[in-house]
Amino acid sequence: MTKILYIAGYGRSGSTVLNIILGNHSSITSVGELSFLPEDWTNHHRVCSCGAPYHACEFWKDLDLDQPPNPQLIQLLRKMEKLSFVPRILLGLVKDKDSQAYRAYQEKLFAYAASRAESAVVVDSSKSARDTVGRFLALRRLARQDVYVLHLVRNGLATMESLLVTGSNWAIEGHVQTSKWAGLRAAFGWVGANVWTALLGRMLGPRRYLVLRYEDFLADPSKALRALSRLCGFEAEELIERINRDEWFSTGHLIGGNRVRFQGKIRLEKHSQRRYGDRLKPWHRFLFAIAGGGLNRYYGYE
Ligand SMILES: [Zn+2]
Repeated sequence: MTKILYIAGYGRSGSTVLNIILGNHSSITSVGELSFLPEDWTNHHRVCSCGAPYHACEFWKDLDLDQPPNPQLIQLLRKMEKLSFVPRILLGLVKDKDSQAYRAYQEKLFAYAASRAESAVVVDSSKSARDTVGRFLALRRLARQDVYVLHLVRNGLATMESLLVTGSNWAIEGHVQTSKWAGLRAAFGWVGANVWTALLGRMLGPRRYLVLRYEDFLADPSKALRALSRLCGFEAEELIERINRDEWFSTGHLIGGNRVRFQGKIRLEKHSQRRYGDRLKPWHRFLFAIAGGGLNRYYGYE
């Protein structure tokens, strides 16, 4: 069975860059925010990272999803990956019919992605936003997939600064208005996504859950990639050698994520040691200190 490496945690944590690097491995395929493929498929403003609409993209075009995707199925997917559905998964209260529909759909999608590039591992970075907090749990318990969770954490102040000073990915791309409550949402969103990822990730068992700070990945990519290779069993050296040679990495065919995905190729930039949060308004720094200060320290940030 194809292994799924699920990059969980809050947005703006570096998952797009990590996704791209991993996707350049000879036995790994990165697909980005796979959970949103059915919606993106029919939205003309949303295209694959290669720039083509999904139905015309060389990677995705042969995927035999119902066209247009069945609205009831999309509704079911959204419902089953939400936080409010998590108790039903944990208590085994999901209807067989729904589990089977979910499993059949996910099996088809992951099998397609893996077969397209003959990969042993597919990287899904749907993360743990409001709509996808329970996704990796649903993939494991309902779709019965071989899921490994990488909990990617980034300094909460840096994340908040990235969201509030430069705007969210979706807002930048013109899909939603930046909310006036963006500060509150960012602070509690960061806390919520990380707390739920930690709680649910551990439920998958210690062999299936790994925490990685994005800053540690940038400071020592070899160490981080070796830890990841132990988590889900791939040979990390080919990526490490390419990073050491400062090579370019192709951005591939990703769904959603940071705009760097449209650059065609990227190089891993060296870690910049600057203080985070200094471009935030004092009110936002205060807000974050109240909501997320403790958790930020727990993850080792000052
Ligand atoms: Zn594409």
